[in-house]
Amino acid sequence: MELEAFEKWTDEERRRTQWSRLSSMLPELQRGNAFYRAKLPKAATKLADLAFTTKIELSEDQAAHPPFGTNLTYPLERYVRLHQTSGTTGRPLRFLDTAESWDWWRQCWQPIYRAAGVTAGDRIFFAFSFGAFVGFWSAFAGAERLGALCLTGGAMSTPERVAAIIATEATVLMCTPTYALRLAEAARVEGIDLARSALRVSIHAGEPGASIPATRERIEKDLGVEAFDHTGATEVGAHGFSCSARDGVHINESEFVVEVLDASGNAGDEGEGELVLTNLGRWGMPVIRYRTGDRVRAVRGTCSCGRTLVKLAGGIAGRVDDMVTVRGVNVFPSAIEAIVRRFAEVGEYRVELARVREMDELRCVVEAPPDVAERVGAAIHRELGIRCLIEVVASGTLPRFEMKAKRFSQTNV
Ligand SMILES: [Zn+2]
Repeated sequence: MELEAFEKWTDEERRRTQWSRLSSMLPELQRGNAFYRAKLPKAATKLADLAFTTKIELSEDQAAHPPFGTNLTYPLERYVRLHQTSGTTGRPLRFLDTAESWDWWRQCWQPIYRAAGVTAGDRIFFAFSFGAFVGFWSAFAGAERLGALCLTGGAMSTPERVAAIIATEATVLMCTPTYALRLAEAARVEGIDLARSALRVSIHAGEPGASIPATRERIEKDLGVEAFDHTGATEVGAHGFSCSARDGVHINESEFVVEVLDASGNAGDEGEGELVLTNLGRWGMPVIRYRTGDRVRAVRGTCSCGRTLVKLAGGIAGRVDDMVTVRGVNVFPSAIEAIVRRFAEVGEYRVELARVREMDELRCVVEAPPDVAERVGAAIHRELGIRCLIEVVASGTLPRFEMKAKRFSQTNV
């Protein structure tokens, strides 16, 4: 596969090009954007001169200046689309795009499709309800720009989606990793083996599953596809994609500046910590040095795919505030998923952390035969060093998710 010039940038080329694009727009933000006018320094010569942006700031700004806040560079009539965050972490944030910004979103999808080998000859099925969340809308628009045949899965039940995938001979599936497994399960009930369908590639977002080897292998086996991970956010854009190495996601550094904020508050362009992103083309409602809350390990160097783009090893493994402590052991929900998904017999599962009489108690509710459930518990204990109570429930008992799966709950008893 021919790589684009930006995919092979040196560090020097990257820094120079990124800063040139960002700095050329700062005067326009100073003029038109009240939110950033208050935040931007009079003169800036490098990225580090600019302040971080947090979700709380954006949220408070929207609350104080409803309904859209003051992070608007242009008059309202310039904007053509409204999307909003899922609200899994706080009040939903509204984001507006101008026609130019929306075109930028569509461009951002091109390297994602290219890395997954998706072309104009493909038929892409979007198993998504097309609500206010931007991810699938932008993916749809990006696929249209690519020239692929775009098939909406909106307003359909899961069996209807299975039937549509078969009937239209869709070659690419776009959905959350959890929902991919749900589709395969629903197909089996109807006596359909999706692994024998025309599907050959799947692209997943919303959860880290496609970068978790056990989950990815299961999707690939159940659907007969090569599964790729994609990362993005309503506030920032469609920024990451897994390549042929599939051991993490590259960030499209032509359109996004990547920084990693470590535990001591230092921002670097690699290492472990919170992912900080600046977008370079959504000028109607930009984010500069936005603290995403995503916990990552960013690695630089030349990937086996030939790209020099930064790679988030293992994808976005969790949120900075996701980590829970169980009797002194730090655990991310994605670590539990990595274990549970290795057991093919487990349908759906849920993890509950409760504080019972001052003691942390981790409980895993699984749809699986009792002997398998016991092995899941033993594996969690062996690999994470945590004792986990296992509760077995009948297949089909636990909720299925189309969007960000909520498999983790925390209570105080
Ligand atoms: Zn790569």
